[in-house]
Amino acid sequence: MTPAENEVADLCVELIRADSSNYGDGSGPGERAAAEVVMARLSEVGIDSTYIESEPGRGNVITRVEGSDPSLPALLVHGHLDVVPANAADWSVDPFAGEIRDGYIWGRGAVDMKDMDAMMLALIRQMKREGRKPRRDIVFAWVADEEAGGVYGAKYLTAHHPELFEGVTESISEVGGYSLEVDPSLRLYLIETAQKGLSWMKLIADGTAGHGSMLNSDNAVTEVARAVARIGEHDWPLTYTATVRQFLTEVADAFGIPFDEDDPQPILDKIGPLVRFVGATLRHTANPTQLDAGYKSNVIPGQATAVVDGRFLPGFEEDFFKTIDSLLGPKVRREFIHHDIALETTFDGALVESMIAALKAEDPAARAIPYCMSGGTDNKTFFADLGVRGFGFVPLRLPGDMDFASMFHGVDERVPVDALQFGVRVLDRLLLNY
Ligand SMILES: [Zn+2]
Repeated sequence: MTPAENEVADLCVELIRADSSNYGDGSGPGERAAAEVVMARLSEVGIDSTYIESEPGRGNVITRVEGSDPSLPALLVHGHLDVVPANAADWSVDPFAGEIRDGYIWGRGAVDMKDMDAMMLALIRQMKREGRKPRRDIVFAWVADEEAGGVYGAKYLTAHHPELFEGVTESISEVGGYSLEVDPSLRLYLIETAQKGLSWMKLIADGTAGHGSMLNSDNAVTEVARAVARIGEHDWPLTYTATVRQFLTEVADAFGIPFDEDDPQPILDKIGPLVRFVGATLRHTANPTQLDAGYKSNVIPGQATAVVDGRFLPGFEEDFFKTIDSLLGPKVRREFIHHDIALETTFDGALVESMIAALKAEDPAARAIPYCMSGGTDNKTFFADLGVRGFGFVPLRLPGDMDFASMFHGVDERVPVDALQFGVRVLDRLLLNY
């Protein structure tokens, strides 16, 4: 076993023990303790790093490994240090103890994403110890605040320290690279190449205020309720992006079933619990999430509002808002609470070829396929601010029966130790050869 394979589990445990719960309101412990683990393990082997706090306690660590060929563009490998909170009462183990049991590391962040943070750390330490150089510059970034939008992490760094990412054109990070076992001779590895866009919208209806006992044909509550019902009940049609079409074609082929564009359900049934990641990528979605109006039983308010969580497909943003506007009706307007882009890149080029080669070298049964995620990651921030082409690639060879998707933000989050060791071997090949 290589030194990196040997120590990756211990590094992951150490990172899990540094509680970096992100409550999204600034009340958490911040990422400083986890960042200190990273910096201590880097300096232990003589690697200098840059530590940046966007706010007190909100720690980010960045370091660059110089490549042997300065003519090549740099690769960014990033992981977020924060985790979502865990309610210890729901868990079978202490979520911040980093216990290793039955071959798994248990704890908050084990898959999201202190596993990758630890792999990055193990790999850079090994490179340094062995004096090996990658071909291109590799920027390693352990960042804050991904779970609450990256304001104190990726967004802050790209806005205030873009020089740290000079020359970077591509990146790898969560959520992708994990295996879906078809049978012992074929494992699909899902590499994320696309993400849906997000639009949190406030719907506002203005009407005529008045007494609840009188006639009123201009009631703001009625208008907003109608719009909410129309949006909530809307049956969004199946819309295939290039990525989703390729994903479904590959899965159908792997399982030996046809791809019927009018009924993709049999294919989705084959991917089991991973449908959580991709089930919502075959269409737009718009879910009403909040309603607010009025203050007294017999007073018709002059305004009523609602909130809708909209997620649109890459390349179909215009289509999404056209439909939303037709569903709003003439008396309801919308404002953005939060709006971000959708992403889609093609599944080709030298980096993709290198990822595929690295997977195949470590798992001859591997077949890599692209997929679109219904959620978003920091890759969006790096793309939007620096134009970096991002992939979800945290290689993990998982047991065939593992419900991996439920681990994200889930109770009893855990990751197999041997999956981390596999990931380290794959990433080592990728980072040194690409
Ligand atoms: Zn994550």
